[in-house]
Amino acid sequence: MLDFHAPDPRIAAVRQLWQQFQLQLEQRFDEILAEVEHACATLLVEDADEAEAMSGAWVTAHARASDLATCLADAWNDQFGPRLRSLGADDDAITYARYELEALQDRMEVRLEHTRLRVFAEAARIRWVRALRDAPSGMSCPCCGARTPIPATFGPTEVGCPSCGTRMTYEPGPRVRMLERGCVHALCEEASWEPWLAMRQAERTLHAAPHETLELLQAYEHTQIVYWHTYLQARVALLPHTAQSFTVDLRNQLQPWYLHVEHRAAWARAGRPRALS
Ligand SMILES: [Zn+2]
Repeated sequence: MLDFHAPDPRIAAVRQLWQQFQLQLEQRFDEILAEVEHACATLLVEDADEAEAMSGAWVTAHARASDLATCLADAWNDQFGPRLRSLGADDDAITYARYELEALQDRMEVRLEHTRLRVFAEAARIRWVRALRDAPSGMSCPCCGARTPIPATFGPTEVGCPSCGTRMTYEPGPRVRMLERGCVHALCEEASWEPWLAMRQAERTLHAAPHETLELLQAYEHTQIVYWHTYLQARVALLPHTAQSFTVDLRNQLQPWYLHVEHRAAWARAGRPRALS
């Protein structure tokens, strides 16, 4: 930990209070997330109209978590920052305390998003299993009669007989297809968590840089491509027919950003070098 260069015990005391405050707030934040995760899991077990109830529980938890983030920023701006300054804390001390604040805000944002992903992906899996409850567990080949398990998809899927290779079409039925809209997105988002983190980091690095450089723009472009590639691949696994439009869909996802950087100096100077044309 950085030394505060502050022999003044009053500064050390404020700093300690600030750290305690952050610690308590972070604990409270984690409690809220744990509560909502538990609440959503309970709703799912109770088999009520869980999709709507869950969204409601999530909106409430999100608001509470956001309130805490505001509380944190206010405490710094109104209390701890001014107190440190009035005691004569040097610039390094203030900068470091601000850095701690931003690091905590960052952790909270990531944890909130990760919890949202887990909650909704878990809900998707439970609803999917429920929709399949009365469905046959396998298909029989019309030629040789061999059984094959049904594929884990939300849309019609070509399946090869494991014995004779005859092609059959699996049709998941209206109960599963009804879930497509709500569930597929949640599962694809969950599958793309790591690339999402990398994309977010690249975006933050770009915005924090004093100058927008081609390297930073391309680094962000690359992470966006990896993210959407992963997301769309997960979607192909769940909805095989989307494989046909994969390339077009990938390009479409990048399109808004390409339009956004169209006239940025560093990008335009380099001849707008889109990795996806
Ligand atoms: Zn067969």
